Amino acid sequence: MINEKLAIFGGPRCVPEDVPEQELFGWPYINKEIEDAVLDVIRRNAMSSTEITVEFEKEFAAWQQRKYGIAYCNGTLSLQAAMFGIGLGAGDEIIIPTKTYWASAISAMTLGASIVFANVDPNNLCLDPNDLERCLSPRTKAIMVVHYGGHPAEMDKICNFAKKHNIKVIEDVSHAQGGKFKGKMLGTFGDVAAMSLMSWKSFSCGELGVLVTDDRTIYERSLAYSHYERNKPEFITETEELKPFYHLPLGGMKGRVNQVSTAIGRVRLKDYDEKIAEIRKAMNYFCDLMEGVKGFRNIRVDEKDGSDMAGWYSPNILYIPEELGGLSEEKFLEALKAETGYSGYSGANNCLHTHNMLQDYDGLHTGKPSRILFADRDVRELDKALEPSEKIRTLSIPWFKVYKPEYIEMYANGYKKVVAHYRELLDENQDSDVGGIWHH
Ligand SMILES: *Cc1c(COP(=O)(O)O)cnc(C)c1O
Repeated sequence: MINEKLAIFGGPRCVPEDVPEQELFGWPYINKEIEDAVLDVIRRNAMSSTEITVEFEKEFAAWQQRKYGIAYCNGTLSLQAAMFGIGLGAGDEIIIPTKTYWASAISAMTLGASIVFANVDPNNLCLDPNDLERCLSPRTKAIMVVHYGGHPAEMDKICNFAKKHNIKVIEDVSHAQGGKFKGKMLGTFGDVAAMSLMSWKSFSCGELGVLVTDDRTIYERSLAYSHYERNKPEFITETEELKPFYHLPLGGMKGRVNQVSTAIGRVRLKDYDEKIAEIRKAMNYFCDLMEGVKGFRNIRVDEKDGSDMAGWYSPNILYIPEELGGLSEEKFLEALKAETGYSGYSGANNCLHTHNMLQDYDGLHTGKPSRILFADRDVRELDKALEPSEKIRTLSIPWFKVYKPEYIEMYANGYKKVVAHYRELLDENQDSDVGGIWHH
């Protein structure tokens, strides 16, 4: 098959057109119990009350092995509440990996903090602990860690650094719910973790975010931030500084969840771990097949040390075009689509510092860019050191939900066949675009 003519030039495809795509890739899954839970919420008009949400928070926190859980109407707000929870405010600096979805970062500016972008490690697309020292200043208050694409960040090194310098750690677990680093659950390393559970994530509930922590002050501050109906004496019991401000949301935002989402979340908790174990089995098999293929390097963990790739959300593979005569991502993907029907994309999330909003945008009309509004140094100068992250080249790979080796092999053969024939795809004007997306 691999030696036959490329499908893009009229040869036979590696993956037949009638492949059961829904079975292989369909997500999220729904079952009768989820449907019943949703119908119950809408029939009782319980969408805007909180009794289901409060149960979900308890169950989710228990699953996360954390004391407290708070649900929010989306992941972005849960991350903002986590930043407020640890006390991030005007003039503080927060270190954030530059290659991530915008919601890991932009909320920090809303709170008046300055973002110092760190490089990501090309081997895992997560914050590079070796770049932390460069980012540090006396104003550094926190590090935001993103377990990107399901890959756990190097939490031992990051937490040691944070401890040494008395800095807080926030984990953004939006890509990696249920994952582990060296046997310990992601979301239990930092002072607080927050994450999106929106429809496309591996833990998929619709619009929903959740924050977990063991710290009572962080819990109370994060709750008071946007859960105005719980900003009262029964819930805010210990944090004296919050007490004069009962009954109104301190962030001026409403965080309450549509209980359709938390009702789904309660059902998902029952078999989520099982579902993502199958995803890992399938994805590991695909990566095994890609091992040693010219032009590619897998991005995954060695599971022997107790780490894993969680639900392998939005999986990527490193692309090394120099090994394929400089073949552009665009050309590769075009040929791959002809072989497999899979429409991939290149570049994963763009580096955030390359967007004007993180450079010149003056959201409060003060005459000063929001990113440095209260800063005592122009942190944008530090962005010059981010070239290594800008140069990282990746391609997406199919996100298999079920372990069906015969199909997984067909897709891997698609990659291998294009690699075997790469010379036929080269032309004089190779496009050297790194690719990248701001969001899906
Ligand atoms: C999806 C996502 C978010 C934002 O969550 P929403 O629920 O969409 O608001 C935050 N961080 C990362 C890394 C994400 O992928």
